Amino acid sequence: MAKKSSEKRIDVTLECTECKRRNYITKKNKVNDRDRIELKKYCKWDRKHTLHKETR
Ligand SMILES: [Zn+2]
Repeated sequence: MAKKSSEKRIDVTLECTECKRRNYITKKNKVNDRDRIELKKYCKWDRKHTLHKETR
């Protein structure tokens, strides 16, 4: 089992744009996703789908 280098895969935190809580941690390929990612995800605090943005 060769372990592939994970240099290009970085952890990002997704923050809800409505309540500003950090709800998700995901990984992204920093080569393919050079810009900050934005995802529609369910926020349990707002109890609906909201836009989540990458934060650091
Ligand atoms: Zn929220």
